[in-house]
Amino acid sequence: MEALATRAWEAVAGLYAGLRVTFRALVGRKNTVMYPLQKVNVAPRWHGLLALPVDPETGSDKCIICFQCERVCPDRCIHIEAGGKGKDRLLTRFDIEMDKCCYCGLCVEVCPTEAIVFVPHYETSTYNRANLVYDLDDLRRAAPKEPIAHGVVAMRGRP
Ligand code: SF4
Ligand code: SF4
Repeated sequence: MEALATRAWEAVAGLYAGLRVTFRALVGRKNTVMYPLQKVNVAPRWHGLLALPVDPETGSDKCIICFQCERVCPDRCIHIEAGGKGKDRLLTRFDIEMDKCCYCGLCVEVCPTEAIVFVPHYETSTYNRANLVYDLDDLRRAAPKEPIAHGVVAMRGRP
């Protein structure tokens, strides 16, 4: 009889502990968001898309065409070509195949002039893999190319 009472007491205590967790989750702060209608900010060191920001002082690329990022990339997804000589040397091609990129960040780390950086954009899904090759103009814009597959943008019963 005493063993039965102990087991009943343990069952009630277990039920109480479980319901306490459920109730706390019910009234507590919600951490889920209705993506893609709602979005959360990414961390400052987020590895999103890669970009080649233009120097605001000179209006030209910060890249000094040293090819270090191309050499260090483990996925061989950076392709750089340049024309001209000496101070007149200019980038003629800077392509990144983002579908091959593993977001390791080695290209960003090795760059001596901070010419290549990560930006917070992460919505790069597309129905066409060719859209995942980012050229010089795309990288200077530092934004995803169009068209982007945005997924569900409106849900039943919601605006
Ligand atoms: S993040 Fe890594 S894989 Fe992607 S382009 Fe840079 S070096 Fe290559
Ligand atoms: S490492 Fe930096 S400066 Fe060198 S080629 Fe790459 S982006 Fe340009």
